[in-house]
Amino acid sequence: MLARLKAGFVATLMCVAACAPTPETKANFFVFGTLVEVAVRGADAGQAESAFTEIQQALQRMHRDWHAWEPGLLTEINRAFAEARRTRAPEDIDALIRMSQQMERESGGRFNAAAGGLVRLWGFHTSDYPVSGPPPSGEAISAWLETAPSTLQISTSDGWLESSNRAVQLDFGGIAKGYAVDRVIEILARHGIGSAIVNAGGDLRAVGGSAADPWRVGIRKPGGGVAAGLEIDGDSAVFTSGIDQRYRQQDGKRYPHILDPRSGQAISGLASVTVVSQDAWRADAAATALMVAGPGEWRALARDMKLDKVLVINEAGDMIATPAMARSVILEPGQSGHLQISNDP
Ligand code: ADP
Ligand code: MG
Repeated sequence: MLARLKAGFVATLMCVAACAPTPETKANFFVFGTLVEVAVRGADAGQAESAFTEIQQALQRMHRDWHAWEPGLLTEINRAFAEARRTRAPEDIDALIRMSQQMERESGGRFNAAAGGLVRLWGFHTSDYPVSGPPPSGEAISAWLETAPSTLQISTSDGWLESSNRAVQLDFGGIAKGYAVDRVIEILARHGIGSAIVNAGGDLRAVGGSAADPWRVGIRKPGGGVAAGLEIDGDSAVFTSGIDQRYRQQDGKRYPHILDPRSGQAISGLASVTVVSQDAWRADAAATALMVAGPGEWRALARDMKLDKVLVINEAGDMIATPAMARSVILEPGQSGHLQISNDP
């Protein structure tokens, strides 16, 4: 996802008081290859504008610093790891590593942000999708598997980073958008804005909604459109991981950009997974982990990771929701017959 940065950003301030119960002020930013829309409620124009200015700078810096293949802070850190050198740990990247370590542990290695070498091998360090041509050879994948990189091989202390495995190559593509959304919510809070929605191409976090005045959002559906609606009356992130947008194509076969670090292969079986969780970084990474878990394992992994709100769409287009998710979603008339409820968890 850390794709391309369009020069500049669009900051359109517009009041849509006429069509919302509480006045909203919005700004759009183009970053991480996606349109990031920030809508705030109940803030005065000056307050919103100064927050938006800070958000714009923060998003641009995150995009630059966390890029998996364009030269920057992260590529320098990856170079240091490959050369078995100790290197400085920028605060944000240190946090991303700790969150990634937690998600790798919780997901039993299905989420692995140290698998940048595998992502590169598959040709997914690009902004031009679909990628064409054959997948990497079995030998190349076996050679990568033998190096067994893990974020748990990175030690972080006193502002320094070190990897005990030279094959560790960080790629935060499965978690960075979530963490960026969390940082935007933090910036808004620092500016005194506690009611807001930050929407990064359908992946979002909303805060400050109330039962009387909830945020209404849509759950992304593979191939475009909205799978179901959701009302958020507290603080929740809604992230979807899917196979429809980024993949390699060869002889009519599609290989999604989500890879199983245990086999080195592109995943198959699920079209999308949506996770609702308080923190966006967690929802983002968990959705990726459940995609890797696939049709056979996602229920058990969701239970182990204590994710109670999950919506899965399989390759046949069936929607399967955990009970808590099924209670939260709003379906169009006639759609409810298509929702299966998973009793486990
Ligand atoms: P998207 O943001 O496109 O919806 P994801 O959140 O699932 O998709 O992130 C996919 C990206 O995460 C890939 O492009 C790659 O950079 C990285 N990635 C792929 N497989 C894994 C994995 N098993 N664990 C962690 N990161 C992964
Ligand atoms: Mg993700």
